[in-house]
Amino acid sequence: MSTTRLPLQVEPYRLAASGEHLEGAVSLEEMVRLREEAGEQQGDAQVCLEFAQDAQGRRLIEGWVKTTLDLACKRCLESMPVVIDSHFLLGMVSDDAMAANLPAAYEPVVVENEQLNLQLMLEDELILSLPQVVYHDETDCAVSPDQLSSGTLPESSERPAASPFEVLRALKKKH
Ligand SMILES: [Zn+2]
Repeated sequence: MSTTRLPLQVEPYRLAASGEHLEGAVSLEEMVRLREEAGEQQGDAQVCLEFAQDAQGRRLIEGWVKTTLDLACKRCLESMPVVIDSHFLLGMVSDDAMAANLPAAYEPVVVENEQLNLQLMLEDELILSLPQVVYHDETDCAVSPDQLSSGTLPESSERPAASPFEVLRALKKKH
């Protein structure tokens, strides 16, 4: 695993012109929007970026970001490690017209004043790569499927609602 830090800010057109390759780590801890989406995170993401131009002269970034995030299990709400390994192909754009003309294979990345904030770009990639829901394996989960189906969740202080069968039984007893 690389411990070289990626620069936060780069000049992407210049890097694309010379076909640069950047590899390194970014800290997850400063990614505020990721924290809002996925909860508190620690450690780094490993990143590899190739800056290039395609045959039409479009400037692009191809790369991947890999990390392990702590995400909440949907069943028991305790955190679990989830490996994220995302590959991306980004086309640099400076306005909406350029974004509209990008081939479908490219995701647009906005470059302003010839500058690109890599941390924000990678944070976007991580947020896009978040799984919709995650669950522990049944044997690792604090809540077993049996507890779920019988309505006896450990944290739940509410009594489970009477089942339709109990209601029926109660009605029958009156007759
Ligand atoms: Zn769980």
